[in-house]
Amino acid sequence: MVDLLSFYGILINKSHPLLPPEIEICKTSTMGYWIFVLSDIPASTLLFSESPLITVNHGDALLDVLIKTLLSAVYPHSIRCFYNLHNAHYCWEHSSYLFNHKPAISAGIWLTNCVFLSTSSSTSAIFNAISRINHSCILNAELAWSKDHRLMGVFAKRDLMAGDKVSSSYFEEDVGHRLVQVRRKYLQGRWVFESGCNRCINEAAYWDGKHKSSAFDNNKGVESKTWRED
Ligand SMILES: [Zn+2]
Repeated sequence: MVDLLSFYGILINKSHPLLPPEIEICKTSTMGYWIFVLSDIPASTLLFSESPLITVNHGDALLDVLIKTLLSAVYPHSIRCFYNLHNAHYCWEHSSYLFNHKPAISAGIWLTNCVFLSTSSSTSAIFNAISRINHSCILNAELAWSKDHRLMGVFAKRDLMAGDKVSSSYFEEDVGHRLVQVRRKYLQGRWVFESGCNRCINEAAYWDGKHKSSAFDNNKGVESKTWRED
């Protein structure tokens, strides 16, 4: 599998020794970091579990102040892991959601990578590996928080094949049932990226084809009407 990943220009990153041998974080040549499975794994398998670097109970405190306070109480390694994560809000011109607020770097990293512990929880967390799981509208993994163990588990939602990228959904289930335009608007507004998953690409191509065909039919109508009038 290493040879196959090398063939596709994917560099193996062994910087996360806590991941099991069949899971690896790799930097792709075009799409940033992804988590890959290196062997076939059946559905419902626990891929790995991880404790948070820090957790935030969202309240009235300013996010960047809150995060800096939390980071001051953790090991330097956790601080390094935090600042190594991607900050999608760094390029303000691409950020519509927070364009006027211009969050500090720590807040930008948080907003890009935070994971809520459950759908009903107001507590979110940053993880060294889990925060690198990317979005797909046809996700193949689900997260489950264990309050007793303070661990987030990553489970295979379906059978995985060696070389598959591990993906989860960044939106609630009801948004997942909406059209590609709605899903993309949601992701662009909250997470500052446009989903390039196969479902979005195929649906966008379908609607693009429908619009072109509709425009062609309208033009044809005008032309034939003009011809008849002549
Ligand atoms: Zn998508």
